[in-house]
Amino acid sequence: MPRKVYVLDTSAVIAGFVPGLAKAEQVTVQEVLEEARDLCSKLELETAVTAGKVKVVDPSRESLDETRKRVAQTGDVVSAVDAKLLALALDLKRSGEEPELVTDDYAIQNLASLFGLSYQRIVMPGIKEVLRWEMVCPACNRRYAPTTSQCEVCGSFLVRKPKR
Ligand SMILES: [Zn+2]
Repeated sequence: MPRKVYVLDTSAVIAGFVPGLAKAEQVTVQEVLEEARDLCSKLELETAVTAGKVKVVDPSRESLDETRKRVAQTGDVVSAVDAKLLALALDLKRSGEEPELVTDDYAIQNLASLFGLSYQRIVMPGIKEVLRWEMVCPACNRRYAPTTSQCEVCGSFLVRKPKR
């Protein structure tokens, strides 16, 4: 029997999916921890990680390359964090597990379907209000709307951050 593994994105973490509610294994990537660190769920999440309830795993380079290629073909725009989560789910599937992405993000849900990965939405009212994103230039720190991908001033690729 394949083991069920929940792959958590930041919206899942913020919705409070984490703390030991699920019997199944829960994994995420380092960047999700960093995004969540800016938010109020920080303590809960760190407790869960310390207790070993949530494992922090890096996807393989192969899966990451493949994910980026396939995302490029669809014309969808996903953040580097989302690409890593999808790649992590692909890795788990290949090693015989049964990954399920837990996310409120439509872009990830669409891509999960395309990749033949299962996903679960977070049924929690109000999460849309909680999680607002903005794009931040890693070089000059200018902030942009979530639809922008490149800094208009210095040309760097923007990274997605939860809006404060
Ligand atoms: Zn810039």
